[in-house]
Amino acid sequence: MAERAETLELRTDFSLLIDGEPRQGAEHLDVINPAYGRVFARCPAAGSSELDKAVAAAKRAFGTWRHTSYEQRAALIKELAAALREHQGPLAELLTREQGKPLNQSAAEIDRGAAQSEGMVGIDIPVETLIEDEQRHIELRYRPLGVVGIITPWNAPVNLALGPLVSALYTGNTVVLKPSPYTPLTTLKLGELLNRIFPAGVVNVLAGGDELGQWMTEHVDIDKISFTGSVATGKKVLASAAGTLKRVTLELGGNDPAIILDDADPKAIARKVFFASFVNSGQVCMAIKRIYAHESIYDELCEALVEQANAAVVGNGLDPDTELGPIQNKMQFDKVVDILKDTKQSGARILSGGEVPDEPGYFFPPTLVTDISEDSRLVREEQFGPIVPILKYSELDDALSRANDTRYGLSGSVWTSDPEKGAEIAAKLEVGTAWVNQHRATSAFVPFGGAKESGYGRQYSILGLKGYMEPEVVSVAK
Ligand code: NAD
Repeated sequence: MAERAETLELRTDFSLLIDGEPRQGAEHLDVINPAYGRVFARCPAAGSSELDKAVAAAKRAFGTWRHTSYEQRAALIKELAAALREHQGPLAELLTREQGKPLNQSAAEIDRGAAQSEGMVGIDIPVETLIEDEQRHIELRYRPLGVVGIITPWNAPVNLALGPLVSALYTGNTVVLKPSPYTPLTTLKLGELLNRIFPAGVVNVLAGGDELGQWMTEHVDIDKISFTGSVATGKKVLASAAGTLKRVTLELGGNDPAIILDDADPKAIARKVFFASFVNSGQVCMAIKRIYAHESIYDELCEALVEQANAAVVGNGLDPDTELGPIQNKMQFDKVVDILKDTKQSGARILSGGEVPDEPGYFFPPTLVTDISEDSRLVREEQFGPIVPILKYSELDDALSRANDTRYGLSGSVWTSDPEKGAEIAAKLEVGTAWVNQHRATSAFVPFGGAKESGYGRQYSILGLKGYMEPEVVSVAK
């Protein structure tokens, strides 16, 4: 009850960050707590004039920032990681209120963002000597691009901002960062921390609607867009960026398959497979979204997964027992409800969940589905919610061709008691990352991104960092 009363008070202590100054905008955004389906906060929203000011400030700041050393930039990024840890409690609580995920997972998201930030600044980007002989010295250098526009989605707003943000800053770029209109608040608070650490204009944070994202992609003074979001919007971003030929990194949606081999132990892997599918109520780009299980272990796996689903605690993320929070917004909730309806109409069998509670908040129980056709919406589309199909196969080649029969290609996994065999099979998945006996394992030192329509370019690792830089050959005749 205390929580309900508290959410009636509208929280408004938010500002945009432009050129080192907290600013209000011409417009505002009302932010809904998905556990109640009710507005709990209001923040300023930027229009095109705020965007112009932020981009101009970032462009000015670039003149100085680009000449700072990697060491200087790394030191400030480490300060940022320390500040994130220091403010983890209130940030995590705000993240849970606006996003819905359980509090311990919000805290883990902030922790992970801090750790990955520190990891990335340990990466060296050396000048590469390409040819060295009596006539010539030819080297490859990397220089920053300029102003980077970062656009993020609503499922993991802190972590998905920090990856590109730290990549851009460490490589000498300045930034205009825009979170999703569904989850702008934690990012605006992140802006307050950034403002205490970085020189004015180096990072600017603007909340705003989809149109703000579009203006960023069109802006002549933004040199690169780092976009994380849906495939449909990613295509618009790429098309719009073509007008100025700005550089683009796209981290888009997935429809990750997990192939469970006949030698896997269903009971031993069930918990891992379940949470790799349902963590954040399935709202994870690299969640398992299709489970292909060999016929010999199929029934036992279904049983073990249903046990996990029935035991999972769904509720308000602020409740310490909660393992799965609500779906983040009404639009996504309606989409998942629609997919459930379509699934039921197709005659598929619901093994767990499948009934949406009639209560406030966007809650949806973990739903496992079997006896479903490969052509169904649930199998073909990115459901991005807590409903997952378990599909049977008898021949591995058939499982692989069904797993690969999609325009998505983010990631996938193979589960087996023989890791070597698993690695061989995993290499046949047409994805950016193929795991064996795990899913969703990422690191600052390992490139992440999608094959096919799941992305364009990579984040993290030296490969990701180079995506924020222009390669330049310096060729010297001796
Ligand atoms: P979305 O594409 O609707 O929105 C993402 C962001 O783009 C928001 O900030 C939005 O305001 C902005 N935007 C909307 N229209 C725009 C336009 N025309 N031009 C520029 N920006 C625009 O995505 P979402 O619903 O917020 O997020 C869910 C999707 O994100 C899922 O598909 C998920 O798989 C994907 N995702 C991918 C990764 C990854 O790393 N590959 C990570 C997380 C989420």
